[in-house]
Amino acid sequence: MTRQTRTNRSNRGNGKPAATDKEKVAANNDQGSQVKEIELPASITVRELADLMERSPIDLIKELMNAGVMANINQQIDYDTAAIIAEDMGYTVVETTAEEPEIEEQEEIVTPVAAAKKQREYAPEELKYLKTRPPVVTILGHVDHGKTSLLDVIREASVQTTEAGGITQHIGAYQVDLEGDKITFVDTPGHEAFAAMRARGASVTDIAVLVVAADDGVQPQTREAIDHARAAQVPIIVALNKMDLPSANPDHVKQQLSDQGLVPEEWGGETIVVPVSAKQKMNIDALLENILLVAEIADLKANPRRPAEGTVVEGRMDRARGSTATLLVQEGTLETGAAISVGQTYGKVRAMFNYKNEPISEAGPSAPVVVIGLRGIPAAGDTFQVVDNERAARTIAEKRVQESQEQGPQTTPVMTLEEIYDQAQAGKLQTLNLVLKADVQGSIEPIKSSLEQIEVEGLSVHFVHEGVGNVGESDVNLAVASNAIIIAFNVGIDPAAERLAESEGVSIRRYNIIYRVIEDVEKALTGMLEPVYEDVLQGKAIVRQVFRISRVGVIAGAQMIEGKGLRNATGRIVRDGEEIHKGRISSLKRFTEDVREVNIGLECGIGVEGASDIQEDDIIEFYTREQVR
Ligand code: GDP
Repeated sequence: MTRQTRTNRSNRGNGKPAATDKEKVAANNDQGSQVKEIELPASITVRELADLMERSPIDLIKELMNAGVMANINQQIDYDTAAIIAEDMGYTVVETTAEEPEIEEQEEIVTPVAAAKKQREYAPEELKYLKTRPPVVTILGHVDHGKTSLLDVIREASVQTTEAGGITQHIGAYQVDLEGDKITFVDTPGHEAFAAMRARGASVTDIAVLVVAADDGVQPQTREAIDHARAAQVPIIVALNKMDLPSANPDHVKQQLSDQGLVPEEWGGETIVVPVSAKQKMNIDALLENILLVAEIADLKANPRRPAEGTVVEGRMDRARGSTATLLVQEGTLETGAAISVGQTYGKVRAMFNYKNEPISEAGPSAPVVVIGLRGIPAAGDTFQVVDNERAARTIAEKRVQESQEQGPQTTPVMTLEEIYDQAQAGKLQTLNLVLKADVQGSIEPIKSSLEQIEVEGLSVHFVHEGVGNVGESDVNLAVASNAIIIAFNVGIDPAAERLAESEGVSIRRYNIIYRVIEDVEKALTGMLEPVYEDVLQGKAIVRQVFRISRVGVIAGAQMIEGKGLRNATGRIVRDGEEIHKGRISSLKRFTEDVREVNIGLECGIGVEGASDIQEDDIIEFYTREQVR
């Protein structure tokens, strides 16, 4: 996982400031009992650190994993990582001064994502084993621009050049071999999967191939994909697809790409743009060669001679084989017979298969493999590591299960607007990351430029992504991965995104007046945020029937499908995910009786002030204003 190397050396026009960081609130777990002081050198193995802290190495590995650092017992971790982990576990840390001072630029604060991205530290004796590993590539781009077609032609080409008759299987990833140089492709295109994985702290992609149809140009999801790749600090290669079409207009697309900051090499920029046609299998080899080129610059390395670790690409139940998982090996070599802990499950690798469904006995760095022998089905984005024996694997899995039960749904400490000032004061925040979703393009620019102009000493606002449309799951995932706040300007929030935001603790702020956005951010940055009231969703009803009553107006015969309906609330009428009207609840009745609230499952009559257009199947949402600070 030489991610840092990549960002330094092959920053192909994707240079953006690293996600700003929020340190975990240093919860002193052992408060009251003992606050021990330990002395840490510039680098220390997990085992040594555990010994120093008189804690079990398993606890420590677990804690590291929580912070997004996959480390085994013999692995060296650097001072910063060790110190943060030790402090989180209730120790006071001092740095050993005897060690020669490292004059590397100081990493600010290690968040799970930043930590996962940090260049892996290798023990000195390990360096000689480091080997170049194949790049792992994800294909991103707008719908219908040809992501799947491109993945298919690349896969076909690889099967022909290797072994005829090999049955290709979709296992979530595959590898191509170009005369010895391999490339691993993640087989689920699109940034949703990419973002979801990153939000979980996993980061497998080394290079993003951005597919842009030459006849259609840069589209909303193209922009989203660019932002996702940038937030992940992954270099982008553009595949300008559908060049076979007479309507292809590559120059126009290159102009659009330049507007997004991806200036093509031939125009003096740093972005490789390869014209291709997935349909006519044109120039695919050039695309692959360019991927190898970027990989070479990125200097991707791993140590195959250590216990394997990596990330789950997908897990599923196979009728014949039981629970199986596709794993991407990122360090070490995975061998059959190895005991592994995988997310919340564990097992022994009974057999392994490559993407051609051929049995294999070992898999090195960047290889995707299907593994059978796991007790349960892990989820995409889970990490795995080989441990000494199945018992140790089980212990890790059990601890993770217990932990997730204790914690409830996974809550990542994502910042809220209210916390900004405190963070900034503590020197932990230099950049406030924002995801901006608005109803029209025309709102984006003024909001953006006003916020970017806010000047508060040492602090700046950075837009991780901006776009038109409702807040979706991918926006929330991006916010998790980059510790950003979402600003929803005159747009709704997809139900799935709302649930995800709630479980991940992502703050979504809704606005409909531009100056309020600016005011809030400004106040947050200067610590003057006043009590804030937010609309809190209390319940939802679905409209079954509509009655027009003279003098009263339109009344919806509805059924509560979520939460409670409250008389003293604001009603939002939502049709096909879009808000069409908002007004006070003017009447709420059960049969003929006025009521103050209606519980889930029950039918009721609802009137919304000013609503003249209510239709069957509309959703009426009940909101109350609550003070959140
Ligand atoms: P995805 O949604 O990005 O995965 O796009 P698909 O791979 O499903 O392709 C969308 C449509 O574009 C399909 O009808 C493809 O046949 C077509 N398509 C893909 N690549 C090319 C191409 O290079 N040239 C032309 N003419 N059509 C293409």
